[in-house]
Amino acid sequence: MGVMTSSDRRLLLASIHDVSPRFEGEVDRLADLLHRHVGDRMAMLVVPNHWGEAPLVGGSAFATKLRSWADGGIEMFLHGYYHRDDARHVGGADRLKARFMTANEGEFMALSRNDAGQRIADGRKLVEDVIGRPVAGFIAPAWLYGPGALEAVADAGFELAEDHFRVWSPVTGKQLARGPVITWASRTRARLTSSLAAAAVLRNVSPAVMRIGVHPPDVCHPALVRSIEKTFRAAARKRRPGRYADLLAERRRDFQ
Ligand SMILES: [Zn+2]
Repeated sequence: MGVMTSSDRRLLLASIHDVSPRFEGEVDRLADLLHRHVGDRMAMLVVPNHWGEAPLVGGSAFATKLRSWADGGIEMFLHGYYHRDDARHVGGADRLKARFMTANEGEFMALSRNDAGQRIADGRKLVEDVIGRPVAGFIAPAWLYGPGALEAVADAGFELAEDHFRVWSPVTGKQLARGPVITWASRTRARLTSSLAAAAVLRNVSPAVMRIGVHPPDVCHPALVRSIEKTFRAAARKRRPGRYADLLAERRRDFQ
């Protein structure tokens, strides 16, 4: 039990997005990849029914696997409900933003407080029944929260939420960490290339809390897998893998 140095306190928070039976094979590969670097200190972002086509079903093989991951210490976050933005009442600018910036994945951008609250309550019950414990928090699809979603997330009393630029506690309003998530995109060649460039820069900057978020399609692109591996190796030299809940437990000023 030595005195911790400041570098010991620097955290690495790793997460797998879009955990759904739809992407079971990809999620398995990502879990193996991350496990080599961070053990069970990772988070999974669970989608209750991806696009309304891939329901998480209690008692299914996938549900059993999710439960055992949670039993092993992996943090489970609720990640939207359908993930897709199906709102028909969005204003023109928001609709364009949703379509072109996120390919309609911003489910919680345009929902009212009530509608967001209902999806959160339904999704939370489903996921918590499957994992047998409370979810760690809520993270909106594509990290996009409209005003109604922000209110609903606070109403639900979640201890943890994040967007692309920060982690906060909805129940207290306190900001817990800041700095962009290192993440990769593969929807177009241009996005893939720019995400590789961004990761190469961000893995060399040193925020108190480094967040790395990976997505199922990442495993289909060897260049992305190499970049992910390289980013984890760079992070491991300077920081310890942690859990999002560490931000609540430690309440260290230097995470701000
Ligand atoms: Zn997602």
